[in-house]
Amino acid sequence: MTVSRKLRLLLVAGARPNFVKIAPLMDALRARADRAETLLVHTGQHYDEALSKSFFDQLGIPRPDVNLEVGSASHAKQTAEVMTRFEPVVVDWKPDIVVVVGDVNSTVACALVAAKLGVRVAHVEAGLRSFDRTMPEEINRLLTDAISDFLFVTEPSGVENLQHEGVVAEKIHLVGNVMIDSLKKFLPIARHSTALRDYHLVPPEEQGNMPWADSSFGKLPGAQHIPFALLTLHRPSNVDEPEKLGKLLDVLNEIGREIPVFFPVHPRTRERLDRFGLTRWARTSWTHKELVHKHACVLLAPPVGYLEFLHLMSEATFVLTDSGGIQEETTALGVPCLTLRDNTERPITVSQGTNQLIGADPEKIFPAVKAILRGETKRGRVPDLWDGAAAQRIIAILLDTP
Ligand code: UDP
Repeated sequence: MTVSRKLRLLLVAGARPNFVKIAPLMDALRARADRAETLLVHTGQHYDEALSKSFFDQLGIPRPDVNLEVGSASHAKQTAEVMTRFEPVVVDWKPDIVVVVGDVNSTVACALVAAKLGVRVAHVEAGLRSFDRTMPEEINRLLTDAISDFLFVTEPSGVENLQHEGVVAEKIHLVGNVMIDSLKKFLPIARHSTALRDYHLVPPEEQGNMPWADSSFGKLPGAQHIPFALLTLHRPSNVDEPEKLGKLLDVLNEIGREIPVFFPVHPRTRERLDRFGLTRWARTSWTHKELVHKHACVLLAPPVGYLEFLHLMSEATFVLTDSGGIQEETTALGVPCLTLRDNTERPITVSQGTNQLIGADPEKIFPAVKAILRGETKRGRVPDLWDGAAAQRIIAILLDTP
């Protein structure tokens, strides 16, 4: 009797959004350990506690088997460094398939190494296109998809984009969204986080019925906390030019007078804020008493962990963001999202979800916020296949490969 060899899958994770996508894949693989051997490689593109270690801990991702420790650098240097350090790992371990996720430099770097060594590449979150080649992520998406053998897609627009680029149908698999797998699994746990208390959105000692549940900061019937907005910003198009970032912050400050804005700052943005001297207007702490008395403002905080962020996102009156993944998460949660970009590679979040593309023009941002505060929120539905089982579908397809 011949015993069939296990499939050797090498998974790559490099940056914060990757970890959220890798976690459900690792879970699905753990359940199929009889059929697959796994090697988890962390490239070290994000490396600190806040953007990396806390995600491994909270999402229950096993310790990486290999850490390439590339760290921060320019795009060319970082991509080259990942490639140089990743190549011997592939040569030594001899995977059958290298699995890359998302659109960061580690994604394209590892895909390229694998493809040149004749190893098949699976790209999770393939086909997304903003059609904006000034975005580094768009270049990473295009190149990764061009050399991948399995293209796992989250939404129908991705399938169409790949077809237009001439990818054969057999390579394209519409499987749903692994980021939403994580959200579905962790939301019930996240709801027990102390984030609302830590950031003084509930009183210090209690979380029960609040007299100010109908606070005029925002409309959240029955809210058990101070209504608040959640903000993230890190795209080069918004944070790299002092004048543009300054104007954006002016309008965010205006919004902060209407409703407290909680802003966990990405290190990339923090570096720009400090370098451009743009932090004077913001606060680094607020008290519950101030919030109760409607002394709203923008609160700058360090990036928060996944569970805390999920909790805050699910409770926010609305989210302002230029993130890719957060557009999807807010759609899955049914929370209004105002995206501070002119385009999105995730159009289903606009056509079906709660997302509105409003760009970075202050003239448009403030009225959009006012509309939400008046209760005029965009309703949406959760896209098909965003059901928590995308990773299982992906692993089933890979295990079925001859
Ligand atoms: N996120 C988090 N803490 C934060 C900000 C974001 O846990 O302070 C999570 C968020 O829920 C999502 C992921 O990080 O799962 C998105 O990462 P990011 O916006 O950096 O990347 P993008 O999706 O734009 O590539």
